[in-house]
Amino acid sequence: MATAPAGRRTVIIAGAGIGGLTAALLLSRGGFRVQLLERAAVFEAIGAGIQITPNASRILVDLGLGKALAEVAVTPEGMDVRAGGNGRLLASADLGAAIAARYGAPWWMVHRADLQAALVAAVHDDPHVTVAMGRTVETVARDGDGVAVTAVGVGERSTHRGAALIGTDGLWSATRELFGDGKPPAYGGRTAWRALLPRSAVPEGISDRRLGLWLGPGAHLVHYPVRAGAALNLVAVVSDPEPRTGWSGTGDRLALIARFRGWTSQAQALVAAPQAWTTWSLADRAPWFGQGQGPLTLLGDAAHPMLPFLAQGGAMAIEDAAVLAKALAARPDDLDGGFRAYEQARARRVAAVQRGARANGRIYHLEGPMGWARDTAMRVLGGRQLVAGYDWIYRFRA
Ligand SMILES: Cc1cc2nc3c(=O)[nH]c(=O)nc-3n(C[C@H](O)[C@H](O)[C@H](O)COP(=O)(O)OP(=O)(O)OC[C@H]3O[C@@H](n4cnc5c(N)ncnc54)[C@H](O)[C@@H]3O)c2cc1C
Repeated sequence: MATAPAGRRTVIIAGAGIGGLTAALLLSRGGFRVQLLERAAVFEAIGAGIQITPNASRILVDLGLGKALAEVAVTPEGMDVRAGGNGRLLASADLGAAIAARYGAPWWMVHRADLQAALVAAVHDDPHVTVAMGRTVETVARDGDGVAVTAVGVGERSTHRGAALIGTDGLWSATRELFGDGKPPAYGGRTAWRALLPRSAVPEGISDRRLGLWLGPGAHLVHYPVRAGAALNLVAVVSDPEPRTGWSGTGDRLALIARFRGWTSQAQALVAAPQAWTTWSLADRAPWFGQGQGPLTLLGDAAHPMLPFLAQGGAMAIEDAAVLAKALAARPDDLDGGFRAYEQARARRVAAVQRGARANGRIYHLEGPMGWARDTAMRVLGGRQLVAGYDWIYRFRA
């Protein structure tokens, strides 16, 4: 990697997930030198698939990642919402050409490892970004006008000095705690079970080109193609009174199959198809924005973790990065002011998306007459209107 030219101020980013990597690329383009500190010793993607909706894909395309991502992502032909109990089609929508025409950017379904690989490759090609792996950020202190950040690795401790620190260290953010907010995330009453199926194992009658959403009492099921169509990503979400020990782990396949007994045969076949599931207790937490001080800020899940029922957590991290870069570009000599402008610009939007995700979680799991009312409303509304109802999310531009 080449040495950064003199004059670039260094911004330290704690956490090289979707948000940290995107922010590093955008800040480098904005004239900063970026030091990324990542806890993991090597990059590994947790979970299988992720949907990148147009509000976020637009930013990744602008970053020059369009070609790399288009090769590994799938633009699904459409989306079908069905009643889990009898398989009845409730709503369908085109997610391909119609989305690109409406929003000017694609709706991608991508394996997390593929998204991460595209971002990491771009970071490695960028002479102004340095990544230190196996570095867990532990402390931050003011150091003159800037910050001194300590991180621990295997048997060693390192200190990194820079003009500012951005915490992008996810749901269980240590930087959020260092910035004075020690309240833990709140369990959202749901467990997500995730699995990846090779295309050859996709049950008969299930499209490997479309997004499927099945709604039923106390549970829902989502599936969509990833890896350029070579695999199907499956997420089964069930209501659970308590979070799982350790919050994530290996799921008992037979227990999940039992949870979906009584659902239509196709949904049951989907749940029975994977041999291994990982579980993830879902949580969110009130947005942090409004508490920022000095050359410190948060981005992505560290600032506003959300339930996944609008598929927006990663998208909001990507949007954050774009808004932050723009706020800093507008105030080249005032990092603190740029951070406060970014936080202010993001606060209402992320709170609204967080609320929307919670509401979907409740609606998806309705039972009895309320479930029937939901199904009827969806049939009347239709898929096009369901998608158009989220124009306020997908039309976003930083
Ligand atoms: C079941 C499920 C489905 C989802 N589906 C979607 C979807 O379809 N679309 C979407 O947009 N979002 C989705 N999300 C949300 C999305 O995964 C997250 O919002 C996104 O990963 C957040 O990115 P981030 O960079 O903020 O945090 P993370 O991806 O969590 O990255 C944080 C990084 O920080 C590192 N780290 C942690 N602590 C430290 C430390 N102390 N020092 C240094 N490094 C540290 C971690 O190792 C990690 O690399 C889903 C989430 C779940 C649970």
